[in-house]
Amino acid sequence: MSRTLTGLGVSPGIAIGEPVVYENRPISTLRITIPSDQVEAEIARFSAAVTATVDNIWENRERARTEMGEEYAAIFEAHQLIATDPSFVEPVKRIIREQRVNAEWATDEVVGELVARFEALPHAHLAERKLDVLDVATQILKTLHGLDLGQLDQLDRPAILVADDLPPSKVVQLPMDRILGFALESGGPTSHTTIIARSFGIPVIVGAQGLCEAGRQSRRVALDAFEGKIVFDPEPAVEAEFASRKGEYEEQQSQLMAMRDMPSVTRDGREIAILANIDLANEVELARQWNVAGVGLYRSEFLYMQLSPNLPSERDHLEAYRAIVSAMDPHPVTIRTFDLGGRKLAREVIGPSEANPVLGLRGIRLCFSQPDFFRTQLRALICLAGEYEAGRVKIMFPLISGIEEVRIARLLVRKLTEELRGEGRAVRNDIPLGAMVEVPSSAVMARELAREVDFFSIGTNDLIQYSLAVDRSNELVARLYRPTSPAILRLIAQVVEAGRAEGIPVSMCGEMAADPLMVPVLLGIGLESFSMSPQAAPVVRALVRQLSYRESVDLARQACRMSTAREVEEFLLERLAISLAKIKIRV
Ligand code: PEP
Ligand code: MG
Repeated sequence: MSRTLTGLGVSPGIAIGEPVVYENRPISTLRITIPSDQVEAEIARFSAAVTATVDNIWENRERARTEMGEEYAAIFEAHQLIATDPSFVEPVKRIIREQRVNAEWATDEVVGELVARFEALPHAHLAERKLDVLDVATQILKTLHGLDLGQLDQLDRPAILVADDLPPSKVVQLPMDRILGFALESGGPTSHTTIIARSFGIPVIVGAQGLCEAGRQSRRVALDAFEGKIVFDPEPAVEAEFASRKGEYEEQQSQLMAMRDMPSVTRDGREIAILANIDLANEVELARQWNVAGVGLYRSEFLYMQLSPNLPSERDHLEAYRAIVSAMDPHPVTIRTFDLGGRKLAREVIGPSEANPVLGLRGIRLCFSQPDFFRTQLRALICLAGEYEAGRVKIMFPLISGIEEVRIARLLVRKLTEELRGEGRAVRNDIPLGAMVEVPSSAVMARELAREVDFFSIGTNDLIQYSLAVDRSNELVARLYRPTSPAILRLIAQVVEAGRAEGIPVSMCGEMAADPLMVPVLLGIGLESFSMSPQAAPVVRALVRQLSYRESVDLARQACRMSTAREVEEFLLERLAISLAKIKIRV
């Protein structure tokens, strides 16, 4: 029987296909006493689950090796060692035998002891190894519980991924070419999972409860991220309707592709720069395909996530960045130093868990608290910049909340530049150093901050989160996350004005830069550089070509004077209806 659930569409598109359910939440285990004559059978059941898990890890390892490279395979090798380690396997068997209990319970007991032992270790990165143990244990428990093993890594055919929670560390392992869409119980419009999916042009709906249960009971699912609608086992007529709308959307996308070489210039001659945000290296191809004018944000933390559990060496950094800069030739590339923390976890970097990670040790704070990691990355970036002409490589610091942080970062760059020069490396003193403006305190102090850096990039994903006190990854408050809030518009206008007054370029790399409803306002505020997921570039280009700069200035002025987000939203929808309809954009 057909069943419809609704959530919030956060990455546009329509998908129809088979659901694959992925549940990330812990499995609860019951203690069941078994008769003594079944003890050996229970041990055999446990051994079979271990074998199946090891086989599965092996397959993942081989796939990672061929599809992503040797470093990724290492993750799975570590898991294989855990699953076969006698100090894990033997105590489970002993508990089954001695206590006459089910394999699930015995596994849980041993894992609990191992985790406690890891947690007691003095070094954070060793303590965090417990996550590997838990990962392997979950796979074994899933097999024992009769749940499908490792669906996520095994996706061998196109499917719609239905999940309760899908952290970015899992997304980076997905075969994106086989994902038709995401339907997630958690997440938000600017959570990193959403951002990555959007880059790949994959539709996403978040915040619909009961998805996993519905997904498990269904054979087919149709998802419309424009409407936030997910229909499980749709009636043929409904599926046909989704298919027809999907066709229209694809047709519109190919029309936009035909405009890829046209300049991003308004009707009255104001030119803007469209740049790309890159998370995963293979997005560079998309950026080139959509003919962007450079990379406005490379989120280097994804390199850490992809190489986890290993840390990138100076050479790893250099090679990864060089590939991007060379591929983007002759355009500039802005590389942001690692913004781990928050929901972007790399257990080697982050110590114990925090009660409020988004307000905790993330961004530049984490860079400073891990001087060795930061130094390795900065040395690589300085060497990289030395390989290219001036301005091709820019370094940007995340989560700047005060001027002191910028001063320290600058000093570090200067010190390391001298150190590298002393080692005989070709380095330059004129690498542009910029700050992300994504903490309200920086927006407020933008004038003073602008005197300390070479450029700004406004990170609206965090700026909105911190200004409106709305967790960007929390589906419960996703509807309160309003880029149209006049408070946000005024903060942005202040930053753009500060950049203009102090003579430094200002770009925007938050998702707002690609929001068709907001682009005209940003243009009117005076923003000239928009950095976005490559997939969004053609829509923004087409839209800019419809707009008049003069009219946009008036539009922005009026919007900034309004009192509520709703007022702004209604005003923009009305004023922009014609421009948006002309390029068939649905907002
Ligand atoms: C932002 O906060 O807007 C931004 C671009 O950074 P991230 O999304 O990586 O936090
Ligand atoms: Mg940010």
